[in-house]
Order: sequence, then C-alpha cells, then structure tokens
Amino acid sequence: MMDHKVSLVKCGDYEFERLKHSIDKSLSLLGGIKRYIRKGSKVLIKPNLLSARKPEENVTTHPLFVKAVIAIAREAGGIVFLGDSPSGLVNDSKLKKIHGVTGMEEVCRQTQTRIISFEEDLISYENKSGRVYRNFTMSGKLRDFDVIISLPKMKTHNFTLLTGAIKNNYGFIPGLRKAELHIIMKSSELFSEMLLDVVQTIKPSLIITDAVVSMEGAGGPDSGNSCNTGLIISGTNAGAVDFIMARIMGYNDPLKVPTNKAAVKRGVLTPEKIEVLGERLEDVIVKDFKRISSISFDRIPGFLKDWAKHILSPKPVIVYSTCTKCGSCVEICPVKTIIREEDNTPVIEYNKCIRCFCCKETCPSSAINIRRMWLLKLLRIGK
Ligand code: SF4
Ligand code: SF4
Repeated sequence: MMDHKVSLVKCGDYEFERLKHSIDKSLSLLGGIKRYIRKGSKVLIKPNLLSARKPEENVTTHPLFVKAVIAIAREAGGIVFLGDSPSGLVNDSKLKKIHGVTGMEEVCRQTQTRIISFEEDLISYENKSGRVYRNFTMSGKLRDFDVIISLPKMKTHNFTLLTGAIKNNYGFIPGLRKAELHIIMKSSELFSEMLLDVVQTIKPSLIITDAVVSMEGAGGPDSGNSCNTGLIISGTNAGAVDFIMARIMGYNDPLKVPTNKAAVKRGVLTPEKIEVLGERLEDVIVKDFKRISSISFDRIPGFLKDWAKHILSPKPVIVYSTCTKCGSCVEICPVKTIIREEDNTPVIEYNKCIRCFCCKETCPSSAINIRRMWLLKLLRIGK
C-alpha cells in the first residue's frame, strides 16, 4: 500500500492484442509482471462485476481487458482464478447470469479459468489496525491466493464520487453483507474508512484499472454515460491510483473524494510521494469529464446539519414507467425503507433512507434515478 508509483498508458479501444500490449507496458513501468507473479503463484483476478450488464454499457470491467490480464498472468507462470461478489442478494443463478451477460463466462471458457464464488466458506478475517471495522466475514478461499489483482472500472459514484481502486475491494464482501455494512457506515466518510479497512485486510498486490472507456455523469456507477478516456491506470497503492484517477476526472482537489481523504488521514497515501510513470498526467486529464459534485455542509450551522443533510442530499427516485416490480430494490435496501404495495409497486419511505444508493445499483431495469435538489445550487454548497 505504501508504494506510490502509478503508471498511465494510453489504449484507445478493446482490441485484444492492443490491450494486452498496453497492459503489459503499464506493468513494465511498475517493474514487470514477474515482480508480482512467480511460476506456480496462485492468482485471483477481481474485476468489477456490479450487475448483469453488457460490456458495452461500461458498468463492469470489459471482458477483453480481463482476458488480457489472464493471459499476462498465465504467461508469467500464474495459476489463474476469477471472482467477484456483485451487488445485492447473490445466489448461484444470479452469479451465472452476471457471468454470462458481462462476458466473463465466455472469457473464462476460452482461457479455461475457474470462476470462484465469494459467497462460500465464510470465515472471519481480523484486521487489528482497522479504524472502523476490525472483523470482516469473507470467503476463506481468499486466503489461498499468493497474488490478488484488482481490475476496477473507472466510474463516477453517487455515494463516494468515484469508484476505482479502493471501492473495487467492496466486492470481496459477500452478498447482502455489503448492504448490512451500509447501515452501520451511513456517511460517505465512515463508509470510506470501512473500505480502507477492507483494502488493508485483503491487500491486493496489483491494481490495473480499465479506464479505456469509463463511466461519467450523475448516473454512475450503473447508469451514467460512457466516456472514451483511453487509459490504463496501474499501481500497487489503491489510494495513489484513485488520487490520480480523480485528477484525470478533472478534480483539482482529489481529496474531495472521501476515499482519497480517508487514505491520507490514515497515512497510507501521501499525495506528494505519488510518482506518475508513462504518460504525463497533465496530458491525459479529461477536461470535459462529467463528475459528480461533492457536497460540503461545512457552511451550515451544526444544529441544522442533520436536517440539511436529510433534506438536501441527493435521493433515489423510482421511475414507475420503467419499473418492472421485480422487488430487487426492496430486497437490497439495508434499512428496509422500500415497501411493496399490494400490487408489488415499490415505494421509498424517505424518512429512513440513508442515501446509500444500493437500490439504484441493484435495479436491473435502471428504473431508479438520483434527484438532486435545486436548493443545493442556490445555496452554492454543491462544488
Ligand atoms: S432507499 Fe435506496 S438509497 Fe435509500 S437506504 Fe434504501 S437502498 Fe439506500
Ligand atoms: S429494482 Fe427497479 S425494476 Fe425492480 S422493483 Fe425496484 S425499481 Fe422496480
């Protein structure tokens, strides 16, 4: 976690040979894949498989990106496996559907890579240096790996502003336990601290970010717009990778991103120590990237803060013309504040809503939007 090198390599599309060459180049800048994988190393590849969405929707790590990393890891002598725990309730049929739609099943079939489930053999992992969470229940299979390679997708995120190297580790937490953690970690600050506790427990060896086509705009991480960012962002320090990612997205102050701020606060990220290799950062900043504004309540008096947060925070809104009444949002809501009417129509009772946006991430029909208050702009507290 303490190495601050971040490599930036351009790659304009998902043509396999070009991808493999570019990923190889990004790893060479970090010392080469053999620095991480030896002959016989057991390697786990962890893409972002949020939900059952097609590769061209850019919600999940692109299957050819995953295939290229599998090829590189195998050429280095690794014995490669793939796994992730998506959003919501996870069972075998849901996992199968997600692997099929996202293209992972086909890639794993072609490369004869075994997919493992993070929902089985659950054990408790202790992390004595955890700040907010010192025990995580996760699959015991994770202990079997010599090397974990995290493959985040660069996207905007309604709760943490961006999802990248730090947030990708949330997928190590099985199924609905992710939603349970949302109940405890209500604010994005606490949630970010918890994510860093997961990072420090799992300690991925390498992060290779699929920023070839990213997701921008207020709909992230599941229904934003695709944006050709043409990059591979690699490193070993999740905080350093995300700090640079925030700069590429156009944040002048990457510490507005709560996960970055939390990484600095606990001393695992020192921005001045970041060394960018490959492309020059200033040459790859996406000038018109549509970010999600951070919200600061610092200018609101203390006694009004809770009220203001509740009233002014962006909130999930169900688009009934698109809703299929499948009930996934009702199932996932960690505080059970989405109720079902007699005809199964979901209704959000906002008084208990903690604005975690799990419902939005889980909705298979993109029938949940985020509504931002016009008052935020009026009060100029959205930055
Ligand atoms: S309604 Fe949606 S945003 Fe609100 S708590 Fe439930 S899952 Fe989270
Ligand atoms: S998950 Fe989406 S489609 Fe399903 S009930 Fe909720 S809003 Fe409707």
